[in-house]
Amino acid sequence: MEQKLYIYNSLSRKKELFEPIVEGNVGMYVCGPTVYSDVHLGNVRTFLTFDIVYRYLQFLGYKVRYVRNITDVGHLVGDGDVGEDKIAKKAKLEKLEPMEIVQKYTNGFHDVMRLFNILNPSIEPTATGHIVEQIEMIQEIIQNGYAYESNGSVYFDVRKFNEKYPYGKLSGRVIDDLYTNTRELDGQDEKRDALDFAIWKQADPSHIMQWNSPWGKGFPGWHLECSVMSTKYLGKTFDIHGGGMDLKFPHHECEIAQNVGATGHEPVRYWMHGNMLTVNGRKMAKSEGNGFTPEELVTGNHKLLDKGYSPMTVRFFMLQGHYTSTLDFSNEALQAAERGYKRMTAAMKLMEKLAPSDTSDENIQAITDACYAAMNDDFNTPILISHLFEGVRIINSINDGKLKLTAPDIALLSKTMDEFFHQVLGLNIEDAGANDALTEQLMNFILEMRSNAKSNKDFVTSDLIRDSLAKLNIQIKDTKEGATWSINE
Ligand code: AMP
Ligand code: ZN
Repeated sequence: MEQKLYIYNSLSRKKELFEPIVEGNVGMYVCGPTVYSDVHLGNVRTFLTFDIVYRYLQFLGYKVRYVRNITDVGHLVGDGDVGEDKIAKKAKLEKLEPMEIVQKYTNGFHDVMRLFNILNPSIEPTATGHIVEQIEMIQEIIQNGYAYESNGSVYFDVRKFNEKYPYGKLSGRVIDDLYTNTRELDGQDEKRDALDFAIWKQADPSHIMQWNSPWGKGFPGWHLECSVMSTKYLGKTFDIHGGGMDLKFPHHECEIAQNVGATGHEPVRYWMHGNMLTVNGRKMAKSEGNGFTPEELVTGNHKLLDKGYSPMTVRFFMLQGHYTSTLDFSNEALQAAERGYKRMTAAMKLMEKLAPSDTSDENIQAITDACYAAMNDDFNTPILISHLFEGVRIINSINDGKLKLTAPDIALLSKTMDEFFHQVLGLNIEDAGANDALTEQLMNFILEMRSNAKSNKDFVTSDLIRDSLAKLNIQIKDTKEGATWSINE
């Protein structure tokens, strides 16, 4: 690979040169959604973060196997070992089969991903599709002595594991501190130790999602599916594992323990965590009531929204923050992003029409290099966008006749803007829509009338057209190829 890519590894807590296990190939696993409700914009931010990683790796020429799962069983309401299954609870509430709930919200999730131009993964496995493999991994962990059966459930033995391997190294939690924050076991508890977590749960007869196992009827624990499906599709050790910051503990910490407990191998080379989308400083979450759905965002139909915003505006807004920082939602920030996005797309359209000169006033290669450097520095999209705005300034200046570039430099600038805007950032020039298409046709018609007037030396009419358009903030420019128009913002 020509480019040297550095990734912030949450495990080592530093930026590291990215070197995949198999040259030219990358295995990447990202925790997918729990499909029991509509996704909110916070979820979208995390999936967008890894969409950028996926896109840039491919852009650099890597062959990427990207696995993003669907959690359709085992994620309990309290995110721990007790309470109802989130899917089963919703199924009862909506009076549907659990698999109808799963299908409904999986479809919804896919629609949202498409709306924001987030690419499909290479494999999208489900937890319920891998019950057999999950049972097998539990057996391996038991055989290795890191799990025990209790009353039809199986628990991971954290203290035993910690005797040989450090538990808590990803989240930076020390096992003794964890005890002080964990409730005491009561005498009824099936667990031997308060830190142990369920990898298989016994199901009482009323539980609607259950499978046969060597320990009786039950269902897998939430953390287990990701260990199992990542190992199955990417191997015992693979390159990148991602998810939102809130999954670091306990979910990812437990994943590491399960993988090491089953295979003896450290599963992941580079752990990546996307930071949270917040609203007035608070994490956007379903439970907070501050999580609007993408549909509400586009229509503006939510108490927190002043108006609707287009999907590409939102994508642009999110990419103006680095994924490791929190990003606070506000109408002002979105409106600023809307203006920025429009300015960039207007320049992208102008780019095709730029007239070359004999000399260049700018070093375009330096801008191209800076774009790569930004992305190579842990996917720094905000810095990349600032370099693309440098390109916007140059395009506008050439168009205004204030700056010159040679044809090869124009071609390089076009290629750089095009590749980083479309392929790397996954932005689209939003469909102009019927009104804009009509405007385009009307403008062509008016410009033709003006051109005819000029050829007939009817300068009164041609000037009248130009001045009338100027009052509407529409600027006409005469070039060798004919007249062009643009809207002054
Ligand atoms: P869930 O469906 O709740 O398991 O969440 C799916 C993904 O969205 C996980 O990777 C979470 O870490 C992530 N997520 C949840 N809330 C937010 C938020 N406010 N900002 C960014 N990511 C989030
Ligand atoms: Zn996971």
